[in-house]
Amino acid sequence: MKNKKPTRVITIDGPAGAGKTTVSKLLAARLGCAYVDTGSLYRGIAYEVCRCSLNWHNDDELDTLLSSISFELKLQPEGVYRLFSSGQDITDYIRTPEITMLSSDLSAKKAVRQALLGFQREIAKNSDAVFEGRDMGTVVFPDASYKFFLSADLKIRALRRYNESITKEGQQKQTLLEIEQSIALRDRNDSSRENAPLKPAKDAIMIDSTELTPEQVVDKIAAYITREGNF
Ligand code: C5P
Repeated sequence: MKNKKPTRVITIDGPAGAGKTTVSKLLAARLGCAYVDTGSLYRGIAYEVCRCSLNWHNDDELDTLLSSISFELKLQPEGVYRLFSSGQDITDYIRTPEITMLSSDLSAKKAVRQALLGFQREIAKNSDAVFEGRDMGTVVFPDASYKFFLSADLKIRALRRYNESITKEGQQKQTLLEIEQSIALRDRNDSSRENAPLKPAKDAIMIDSTELTPEQVVDKIAAYITREGNF
């Protein structure tokens, strides 16, 4: 039997609101490969913790939950993944402010990161993909073909999230200031944790998206990839 061609991974890490999701989706569409939002997995665990009213500070309770969780990312015809937990589509329930903060708290736990590590690497075996998250280039895919780190000023990131929340829900649930404070807190949590902190990989290309549109960021990334060789 012929050996399967190795798949290629592009990693896009960065803080909340830097534009990772929009850029990763556009880039994946342009390259004709899959797109994986790893933040949704941390959110999925937070959702399960809430659903079971679990005391996640208790390591034994958390371990029991983690070993029972069964996630599936199902690719939809329109090219996006939806997250299923034990067969139930939970995609629409994982973006509330409470789940957002809890996912950041839980992501500092070694057991949580460990539970998702193999799952993420398994997905990468099936097809070329753009993976977005916090530790894609540093921990999950240290040998990725291309690594990018996307940043932007805090105020711009908060404004983007605020505008998104208006478009998505018809009315915003949090004020601009609340969103800014929540993003700043998550940045602090994510960057200062001991396990897989948010930081650029040594070999990541840094892109500041403060004054760029998503298309301009994708152009920059695509130009870099093309310059280095075809994806
Ligand atoms: O990317 P998103 O904002 O959906 O991620 C939610 C939370 O999940 C982040 O604040 C972060 O704490 C955590 N996360 C992580 N590592 C990843 C992706 C997300 O720690 N690779």
